[in-house]
Amino acid sequence: MWFVGWSWQAGEVTSSSDPTKRPPSVDRLARSLADTGLPHPLLVDAARSAIEAGDPEQAAAIAASMERAMLQRVINATGTLLHTNLGRAPYGVSQEAGFRNLELDLATGKRGSRQSQAPMLLARACGAEAAIVVNNCAAAVMLILAALVRGRGVAVSRGELVEIGGGFRVPEVMEQSGARLVEVGTTNRTRRQDYERHIADPVADIALAMQIHQSNYRITGFTEMPTTAELADLGVPLVSDIGSGLLDAACPWLPSGPPSWLEGEPAAKQTLEAGASLVAFSGDKLLGGPQAGIIAGDRELVEQCARHPLARALRPGGLVLGALQDLALAYLRRDGQAIPFWRMASRSTDELRARAEQWNVGTVVETMAVPGGGTLPTVEIPSIGIAVPGDHAAALRSASVAIMARVENDTTICDLRTIDPADDDAVAAALRAVDT
Ligand SMILES: *Cc1c(COP(=O)(O)O)cnc(C)c1O
Repeated sequence: MWFVGWSWQAGEVTSSSDPTKRPPSVDRLARSLADTGLPHPLLVDAARSAIEAGDPEQAAAIAASMERAMLQRVINATGTLLHTNLGRAPYGVSQEAGFRNLELDLATGKRGSRQSQAPMLLARACGAEAAIVVNNCAAAVMLILAALVRGRGVAVSRGELVEIGGGFRVPEVMEQSGARLVEVGTTNRTRRQDYERHIADPVADIALAMQIHQSNYRITGFTEMPTTAELADLGVPLVSDIGSGLLDAACPWLPSGPPSWLEGEPAAKQTLEAGASLVAFSGDKLLGGPQAGIIAGDRELVEQCARHPLARALRPGGLVLGALQDLALAYLRRDGQAIPFWRMASRSTDELRARAEQWNVGTVVETMAVPGGGTLPTVEIPSIGIAVPGDHAAALRSASVAIMARVENDTTICDLRTIDPADDDAVAAALRAVDT
């Protein structure tokens, strides 16, 4: 990968850099690229790489690649709503530079907690007594186990000892937390009695039972898994890692109620109502926010998590908490239109088709969008795309705002469901440019 080469080159430049010995041509070439807006040290790296490669003409192209390697907004035309490579849910932050009452109680002027603002609103939105926010759902699970199990046993079904995208391996997270994993039941069938038997065994010393939602895979056929309600009164707290962050299965923030493709997806509110002591979920999946992990439920257990020393290491910053506060307020106002994820998820195909017909390029086709992001593995959402013959993925990626499209059978498809209508003109123009 070229980026790696650049890093290495940059290292070489610093180790041997003696300003008096730098060939003047490097500096002059770097200055000639000042229009790119890149800081001078990076332009020096680009100039030096080009000169070392024996082709100073390349310097501008190298500078352009450096710019392209940076974190930037992109257009998601893939039809995958929560695209892991594109940061899962679309989100924004609108915070001016300035101080914030992050850990200050404005009423008393005394020290407050960063966990008393956005987390409290999220708890309210899912009907929990209390909540705290950490860095992601993996961190949430880790903190729960470290704080509530502390070297004792945690009962988990063998059917849930899985790896969920991005290297979240349930047994490994458990091991890191210091909890002792007690496997219960079998891979395809686990019953309430399997948990009861281990919980009754003093040697197993079970501190809590944990359910892990089979987010991105399905076991089908001869299978059986107890429901949350069936495990609610085992005599130890029940923690449910629901992963996806659906707050309420009734979706009161959508005027037409829950879309059919959400069927069967566990939601925080209903999981707590069914008797789970705590739920853990991601901020950037179906919740539609920034990367975060939320622990919600029983106040005493949430406070035990908040008091554990790891909570300090896993805590989010003010930017994330500010974005989550806006998000929680939108949920409490039942305003799904204010949440970019739910805006794109709830658009009708008629609406998408009407937009596509304005593009004046390619062919309007029916497509299937997918939730993605390690959720709902077998689910498809009807959508509309524009198809153009040939593979134009690379050309579209190089548009001024990069466009990520899908290529199937040598046809490039831009799926309108994941494209913000404000980007329609840009995508249509880019498609016209490649469709010759
Ligand atoms: C996605 C997921 C995780 C990991 O969440 P991150 O926020 O990416 O750490 C954990 N558990 C379940 C059930 C998931 O679906």
